[in-house]
Amino acid sequence: MNTLLLTVTAVALVLLVVLLLRPQQEPPESGQEDVDARISPLLRGINFLLSDEPDLALQEMVQVARLRSEAAEVYMALGEMFRSRGEIGRAVRIHQNLLARPDLAKSLHLQAHIALAKDFQTGGLLDRALAQYSKALALKSDHADALEASLRIREQSSEWQRAEELLSRLEQVRNTSYGSHRAYLFSEMAAHCLHEGDLEGASMHAASAIELDSSCVPARIVTLQMAMAAGDDEASIHQIEALYRHANEHFSLVIKKIVAYPEFYRTKAQALLSDFLKLKPDAEIALSWLEAVADLQSRAALLQLYHELNFAPSSLRESLRLQAVVGEAGDAHAVFARKWRKAAKNYSCEVCGVAVIDIRWQCPQCHSWGSLHPKREEVI
Ligand SMILES: [Zn+2]
Repeated sequence: MNTLLLTVTAVALVLLVVLLLRPQQEPPESGQEDVDARISPLLRGINFLLSDEPDLALQEMVQVARLRSEAAEVYMALGEMFRSRGEIGRAVRIHQNLLARPDLAKSLHLQAHIALAKDFQTGGLLDRALAQYSKALALKSDHADALEASLRIREQSSEWQRAEELLSRLEQVRNTSYGSHRAYLFSEMAAHCLHEGDLEGASMHAASAIELDSSCVPARIVTLQMAMAAGDDEASIHQIEALYRHANEHFSLVIKKIVAYPEFYRTKAQALLSDFLKLKPDAEIALSWLEAVADLQSRAALLQLYHELNFAPSSLRESLRLQAVVGEAGDAHAVFARKWRKAAKNYSCEVCGVAVIDIRWQCPQCHSWGSLHPKREEVI
């Protein structure tokens, strides 16, 4: 109800400004008549709003807006209010009515298209939202908010090529460079090509991404996957070393992919991983390695690796992960640890703080790219 009261106050203020300004420009008699004609429906409208009868309020507000084009602002405020209350249908109707008015000023036209686009976007009607943003961009091609919102929708719909075009336009408008963001878009294109069996496309896009940002993990993962699938051991080792060097924080993500190629793992990669751990002990790598072997190989292989690594946990989180992976099947602690492991949030966003189970290259909440990092805990 607070939002409602605020909006009503805002609406009343807008009208007050309109009323204060108008009489000075018009003959007193007709001005007075006009003011009277507008006050009545507006007061009735506010009354309906306060009685929580938004449809009747809308009818009255429409009267106000018809009387004077300035009062279209009242309309806009009302639309915003409905959207913020989640009443998307009403917000859409208001903004569509506004756009249907032949006397609408160009600046308000732009605002109304943006508002209608936001209504559709909030309601999940992404195609219709995009169409409205396009209309806004046709009126003002450098509208940064419309470009950014369209970019977000293209990303949400996995339309990476279109997203990249919009990012270029946004770069021009804001006169800034989004190299790292573009690298993630290229890496998504590479992953899509790999999934579709287009190896040439995958290789090209991954290379473009790495050229823009050498620490772009998903692009490096695609390159490594391609090298391992092609049986090119030398290139695979080169990519594993590059990942370790340039994207150390997310290195553990590729361990399971490596163990999935048993011959390459046994003859080459196993020794390489051991060397990394001898060089610098890393709980994330050790635990991910144990988890990968537990998933893809025998329990005997797991216990042998556990013995070789001689890994000791140094935080509660590490202890639970270890228990979940090496604990005996019937052991109550292991049963609990496995349940915890399935539900545990492993990554958190440095921008908005959201925590998720599996890695995402774009944050599902704030939409930043590359902002999710493995959760760390206080060492005991
Ligand atoms: Zn975030």
